[in-house]
Amino acid sequence: MILEKERELIVAYGQKLITQGLTKGTGGNISIYNKEAGLMAISPSGLDYFKTSTKDVVVLDLEGKKIDGDRNPSSEYDMHRIFYREREGICAVVHAHSTYCAILAALHWNIEPVHYLIGYAGKNVRCAPYKIFGSEELAQVALEYIQDRYAVLLANHGLLAIGENIEYAFTTAEEIEFVAQIYYKAKCVGNPVLLSSEEMDDFLEKFKSYGQKK
Ligand code: 13P
Ligand code: ZN
Repeated sequence: MILEKERELIVAYGQKLITQGLTKGTGGNISIYNKEAGLMAISPSGLDYFKTSTKDVVVLDLEGKKIDGDRNPSSEYDMHRIFYREREGICAVVHAHSTYCAILAALHWNIEPVHYLIGYAGKNVRCAPYKIFGSEELAQVALEYIQDRYAVLLANHGLLAIGENIEYAFTTAEEIEFVAQIYYKAKCVGNPVLLSSEEMDDFLEKFKSYGQKK
């Protein structure tokens, strides 16, 4: 089976979307790009994450052509492949319908730097305008609004996070949902104080050496 490792990760992280409360039902989708092969593995469309096995994962090339798999690929495959084509160094995409991101996306708000962990995505997270799910237009606005960030809100829809690997993209989705929750709750009781651009620069510099040596 080609892209076996990527398929296993898609099954495992698909289940994590549910267990971590980042999505409900069959909402959201995950893909991983194998640069050497020039192929991406992507979750199947509309299939229960706990009934998805490695053989249900679909392999596509970056033109969107199916290379392997019997299932229909995620309806959002354009919104995944566009990042592998257009953003250097991106090898994983996570899309989720997490509650607080979906609330801010319903308001068409950007997520502002109310907590330093926004830095997983960049200095803020922009909200891309509404386009119907599974469309090339949605893929286009996601790319246009994410710019140099690692996450973008999709108006009246949810969140998209990207990274050089699935661990980073998934953690970014989790942390941005956390910051969205803090932003929403702080707004309910007052006017949250935002971190300045310089404070975010300092964080982003320090974050490079956070954790264990790579
Ligand atoms: P798929 O089940 O086709 O991946 O679609 C879910 C979704 O979130 C659409 O935006
Ligand atoms: Zn969706």
